[in-house]
Amino acid sequence: METILVLAHTENDGSLAKSAREALHVAATLHKSLAGSKFVIGLVGESVQAAANSIAACPAVKYFGVVGRDFSQSRYATDAAAAEAICRTAQATLVVAPATSRWNRVLPGVAQRLGGRADTHATGVSASGDKVTVNRWYYRQRMEAALQRQQRPWFILIDPGSQSACECGAGIATVENVAVALPDSAKRTTVTGFRAPAADAQTIRPDAQLLFVTGAGWTKKQADGQTHVPEAEKLIRDFLQQARASLGSSKSLVDQSGEGQAVISFLSHLNQIGQTGATPRHPKGLSTCCHGEEPHTVGWRFIAERRAVNLDPNCGWARGKADVLYVADAFAVMAKVNELLAKK
Ligand SMILES: Cc1cc2nc3c(=O)[nH]c(=O)nc-3n(C[C@H](O)[C@H](O)[C@H](O)COP(=O)(O)OP(=O)(O)OC[C@H]3O[C@@H](n4cnc5c(N)ncnc54)[C@H](O)[C@@H]3O)c2cc1C
Repeated sequence: METILVLAHTENDGSLAKSAREALHVAATLHKSLAGSKFVIGLVGESVQAAANSIAACPAVKYFGVVGRDFSQSRYATDAAAAEAICRTAQATLVVAPATSRWNRVLPGVAQRLGGRADTHATGVSASGDKVTVNRWYYRQRMEAALQRQQRPWFILIDPGSQSACECGAGIATVENVAVALPDSAKRTTVTGFRAPAADAQTIRPDAQLLFVTGAGWTKKQADGQTHVPEAEKLIRDFLQQARASLGSSKSLVDQSGEGQAVISFLSHLNQIGQTGATPRHPKGLSTCCHGEEPHTVGWRFIAERRAVNLDPNCGWARGKADVLYVADAFAVMAKVNELLAKK
């Protein structure tokens, strides 16, 4: 009989992130399919009562908490000790956790301490009879694997954005405190602060409805024989502001900054989509001035509806990579789109 533990850490304000609710949804569904399974929750943070209360209506039968100032920050030694203590107390056999940077770093090590196994970047978990199957992608999302394991505890880290978040309501939860005795050596590392771009400079928005991709064409000579980079920047910036889209880029465009060419100033390698870039998840994608070559479009694996604007009717998007290709000048198209959005 499996004991399913959802392991989550609280955010700075004591709440639970959406990724934690996604893990909760996976675990609750698994619990329904696995006859006789037990469903429990473990929380780590400075204080976890508010987080536990926020999901009190979920079908978990017990809540465990490791609490205190020592557990507020992301730190390997304390996080690993907390996770290990909860897993031992709960006697968990399946540990479902959000694949946050904090847990990704720590939980494979905890699996090792407990003689278990860990799988990261899981995008699906299902059960048939008493067999649990985890799905994840390999080789830059080109191959999907279905994994089953004998070893327990099995740590399954769920990729954020791959699941719907559990809608279970609030209430009053009783949290059983799990004591963790920390040696001084576990507290040597201290988080001194966060550095993040200003809100209006933040162009990567994982929760956006639309991924807007810019390609090298925005910086190329246009029909008049001139480049129009400042105009391109304005069109792109205006669109992002109005549509609240997430900004992606082709490799060619982000690489140009390293080559000293005129570029879109607010792009960095973090925006790159593709084989050597990111594979974000968004309901829709719009590609502009990007050729749509395979090393780029492989990063569109999880974009549901794809459209592209390109002057070239023979570009890669026309070869089955996009649902709709507009053979048009992206400067003209985006100027019109921005005008229509401004009127809304
Ligand atoms: C090992 C390897 C890994 C790679 N990894 C990645 C990766 O992760 N991500 C990635 O993106 N690439 C990757 N690449 C590079 C990839 O193969 C392409 O070279 C790159 O994606 C091309 O970028 P682009 O389409 O922006 O530029 P280009 O190929 O220069 O295309 C520009 C496009 O803009 C169009 N255009 C120009 N002006 C306009 C206009 N006014 N309106 C509309 N369209 C216009 C042109 O018709 C053209 O199609 C990789 C390559 C290799 C070998």
